[in-house]
This record gives sequence, structure tokens and C-alpha cells, in this order.
Amino acid sequence: MRRISILGATGSVGTSTLDLVERHPDRFEVVALTAATNAIALADAARRTGAKLAVIVDETKLPELRDALAGTDCRAATGHDALLEAAAGDAEWVMAAIVGCAGLEPVMAAVEAGRTIALANKEALVTAGSLMIDAAKRTGATVLPVDSEHNAIFQCLAGNSHDGVAKLILTASGGPFRTWSKADMDVARPEQALKHPNWSMGAKISIDSATMMNKGLELIEAHHLFGLPSDRIDILVHPQSVIHSMVEYVDGSTIAQLGSPDMRIPIAHCLAWPERIETRAETLDLIKIANLSFEAPDEVRFPSLRLARAALESGKGEAIVLNAANEIAVAAFLDRKIAFGDIARIVEQAINQAESPAPQSIADVIAIDQAVRRQVGLVMPMVSA
Ligand code: NDP
Repeated sequence: MRRISILGATGSVGTSTLDLVERHPDRFEVVALTAATNAIALADAARRTGAKLAVIVDETKLPELRDALAGTDCRAATGHDALLEAAAGDAEWVMAAIVGCAGLEPVMAAVEAGRTIALANKEALVTAGSLMIDAAKRTGATVLPVDSEHNAIFQCLAGNSHDGVAKLILTASGGPFRTWSKADMDVARPEQALKHPNWSMGAKISIDSATMMNKGLELIEAHHLFGLPSDRIDILVHPQSVIHSMVEYVDGSTIAQLGSPDMRIPIAHCLAWPERIETRAETLDLIKIANLSFEAPDEVRFPSLRLARAALESGKGEAIVLNAANEIAVAAFLDRKIAFGDIARIVEQAINQAESPAPQSIADVIAIDQAVRRQVGLVMPMVSA
């Protein structure tokens, strides 16, 4: 029995994780589940899985959560400490699937407690990558990549000497606007940007896929997870999303991981690691797929790629600024307060204006993040006017 907790249990990754856990009740015991506001879905998942702790971040929802859990032995809780308790409590395996930098402190609590962390929350790694990886080495925590690209690379590296790696190749679907003109993209509406051609995901990552900031964040994520510099991590557009990423070795071999675009596959790999479990995800029908195609990424139509690579190469705290400005801009776009084209402009403006020394601690990361949020909040209405 693996004792697990799921942070962000009501989201897209969280519910896919629950789907797998509920298919394998003989293998997993759920200790704690968390959500931001969705008390009903949280209580429902806690009832189904027999979780012992359910944490809701929005404290006004605690009475609703308590009512929904009446008659169970699941404790309802709210507040920062309760969230950290869910992350660092009794579970040996923690799914980190909170969206955004809000997930950083819970992830770090799990790392400090030496847990095995299935990391979906890429923003935590983007903002505090070196600090997190150093802490994991110190505490013995294991960080398993859930993001399909990084999970693919993790699988392609297995059993091979890391000294023989020439480069990593991150594949990208290109998102819903892969073939759109820049002018059309500039005025795209949220419902168009949310329509990912291959993957079904939460709203924030779907918009990041449309701007291709998602691939920029993944570039930074890959650097921290696998320890390679920016110039040895390529991005390759592959519209079919069949190859999830590749590793090229010095002897000329390139190893790829393939699968249908279903997050249950990489999640299951982390859940059962180092074993394998059945997922019921569709298997590949390569005869039906017939053709795989590849394109170079376009940094003119998708400036977020250039901004993310520059932030990584700066070696300072620019990635924190990039991430915070992007989170605010994406939320404003979803609220219809700014245009699609404003997102990358706001991020670039924030990077040009913010102070971003290399963070020495998680407190430094949070301070830079908060300063950018205040600054971007002031700048944004002017940009979109
Ligand atoms: P969703 O928006 O679907 O879910 C987010 C989860 O986090 C929900 O449970 C939500 O609770 C909770 N949450 C939101 N804000 C906060 C907060 N401030 N504090 C605590 N909890 C919060 O996101 P996804 O599942 O799509 O993505 C989660 C993470 O995984 C992201 O970092 C994303 O980049 C990454 N990822 C996602 C993939 C996907 O396929 N979806 C693929 C690869 C990576 P509530 O429901 O109550 O709002």
C-alpha cells in the first residue's frame, strides 16, 4: 500500500490522479486531499477514497466542506498550516498539482519532509528550481516529473548513462494558434485560446499552451530537473502530440517516448514508479495516425519562447518575474481585461522593469513574486488600454 496525498485534487491533474487511485484501491491509500474553493468536489473525493484530511484554502468554504463531510472520519481544515500539513504529513508520496506559484510552499514542505513528490506544478520548479533540487538532495526527497514531456525524458534516460546525453528535445503541439497569423492571434478570444487541439487541461495551462509560454516554462523545468544548459535543450513543434519528448545521445541514438495524449499515462508512471500499472488510457494506433510531422518553433509569433529562454540564461531571478507576470496576465486575459497579444507584452515589460537578483531562499522567491504581482497589477490597465 502506498500512502498518498493529492494537492490540487479537484483540478485536471488531481482528478486524473484520483481516477487512477480509485482504479487501484489495493495499491493506494489516500491520506489527504486539498482544493482552493471547490468544497463539494473535494468532499466527494474524500468520501470516495476514505481520505483522513481535506483542506480547503478558501476559509469561507470551510462550513460547506464540514457539512459535506458529516458522518465521515475525514477532518476538514483550512489555512496555510493545514495546506502544509497535507503536503508534509503522513503520506510517503505527494501529487503536487496546485496551479501556479501558490503551490511552491506546499511542494517545499513535502521536499523538506523527504517525501516522493510527483511534480505537476511546474511554476514551483520554474521559480525555485535550484533551491528545490538542492533541498531534495539534502533531505533525500525524490522529485518525479509528471509533465508529459519531462516524464518522457525521464523514461528515455532510464538505464542510460547521463554522461552520454547530447541534448534533450522537448516536443510541443504548437497549441490552438499554431497556424494563425500574429494579427489574428493578437485579438483571439479566451474561448478560442482554451481550445487545445490535443490535450484537455486546466484553464491556466491551456492559455500557456496557446501563447507557448507553457513550452518556455517547460524549458526552465527541464534545465532544473535534468541539469542541462539552455543550449542543450531544443524545442520541436510536433502537432500530433504522439512523441512526448526525446533524448539524443552522443553516439547518434535518439530515444523517444510515445503515447496517446492522456495525462493518466505520465501520472500512472509516477504513481507506481518504479513499477507500472494499467491506466485504461487509449493505446496508440500508429496505422491510423500514419504520419508524424515536425516544425521549428516560431519565436516571432510566440515571443514567450524567447522570453523564457532569456530568463533561464540570465541565471538570476528573471524566471520568477516571468512566471508571476505571466500568471497575472493570463488571469486578466481569462477575465477579458486584456487582449491575447498583451500577455507576452506584459511579461516582457515586467522583466525589463523588475529587480530580479538570484534568490537565496524560498522567502526571496516569494518576495520577488509578490513585488512583480504588485507592479504588474499597476501596469496592466495601461498596456491593454
Ligand atoms: P487546474 O486549474 O485544473 O487545477 C488546479 C488545482 O489547484 C485545483 O484543485 C484548485 O482548486 C487548486 N488551486 C488553485 N489555486 C490554488 C491556490 N491558490 N492554493 C491552493 N490550491 C489551489 O490545473 P491543472 O490540473 O491543469 O494544473 C495543475 C498544475 O499541473 C499546473 O501547474 C499545470 O501547469 C501542471 N500541469 C497540468 C497538466 C494538465 O494536463 N492539466 C499537464 C502538465 C502539467 P479548485 O478546484 O478548488 O479551484
